[in-house]
Amino acid sequence: MDTGDFQMPKIADVTAEKTIENEEIRVFETAGSEETIEAGRAIAKLLAPPKFLILRGDLGAGKTTLVKGIAEGLDAAEAEEVTSPTFTLIHEYEGEFSADGKTAPVKLYHLDLYRVDGERQLDALGLDELAGPDSIVLVEWGEKFPTVVKRANGEIVVTSTGGDARKITLKLG
Ligand code: ADP
Ligand code: MG
Repeated sequence: MDTGDFQMPKIADVTAEKTIENEEIRVFETAGSEETIEAGRAIAKLLAPPKFLILRGDLGAGKTTLVKGIAEGLDAAEAEEVTSPTFTLIHEYEGEFSADGKTAPVKLYHLDLYRVDGERQLDALGLDELAGPDSIVLVEWGEKFPTVVKRANGEIVVTSTGGDARKITLKLG
């Protein structure tokens, strides 16, 4: 069959902020927190370790809610067990990632840097040690720190689109 002049849409057409080549982008639309948890379970299947992702979005957007689903998708924790690391700064879970019939253990680290001030306090968290070959590091408010941005190999952006509706954009670089 002649496909004529049809061209696949370029990724650059759908990304507003960044146009890094080979970046993989997925968008999920959810209508409530249960659906966001479900999106998190789906996203978990795409997070072959190592990953170091910044979770961006306003306070209350649903970043922590999304991590509940990601943790479930990795068999790392039940949604109820995943709470905000606002004060504890880091929560660690052990789970597994499966692909192509193979299963490997993963360490899931969920950080919230909202209350972290300055690179020195950040250093104390020991990000270097967390970012191992079998780790998935998810950092809320990571965009505050250039060193964290530099380390990231992707991001997840959660945006409110009115009421309980959310748009979740996963970008893997
Ligand atoms: P963040 O970590 O981004 O500050 P949380 O996940 O802690 O946000 O809180 C999100 C709040 O918004 C929760 O109270 C949740 O019930 C509510 N909410 C309403 N609709 C949604 C949705 N579609 N996705 C995620 N959370 C939602
Ligand atoms: Mg949060």
